[in-house]
Amino acid sequence: MSLTGKQAAKKRFMDFLGTRNLRLTSQRQAIIDTVFNTDKHFTAEQLLEWSRERDQSVSRATVYRTLPLLTESGLVREMDFGKDYKFYDPNYADHPNHNHIICQDCDKIVEFESDKIAKIEERISHKLGFTVKTQRLQITATCEELKRMGTCKKKAC
Ligand SMILES: [Zn+2]
Ligand SMILES: [Zn+2]
Repeated sequence: MSLTGKQAAKKRFMDFLGTRNLRLTSQRQAIIDTVFNTDKHFTAEQLLEWSRERDQSVSRATVYRTLPLLTESGLVREMDFGKDYKFYDPNYADHPNHNHIICQDCDKIVEFESDKIAKIEERISHKLGFTVKTQRLQITATCEELKRMGTCKKKAC
């Protein structure tokens, strides 16, 4: 997502908080700044770690209270890859239809978009009498390192 896209998304989230009469504490500000300054997918624990680099006082509780607000606002999407933890994606505001491939070991995530896949999904839906509203494809796979070494040294989380 472009930087201006991120800034726009951040502003929309601030407006969303305003409609909920939620106070913008410095902890929450640090979390929001973190989320809207990355295009990486993150877990709650990663968000906590990154936010603490901005503001040491950010607590785990505030991160866990802020995440549902982010997903409710529609600007951050929760993703379940069948792991013990969820991932959060800050890139949907600009790219609502992108897909993901994830390494089953190190959790490396790569995004991709494909007109071909979109067309196939449209064709199938049409055949079944449906109209596509949203689509997302999640592929769990083995990354290059996992294939070569049998394990990934660097876990993304
Ligand atoms: Zn993504
Ligand atoms: Zn891997």
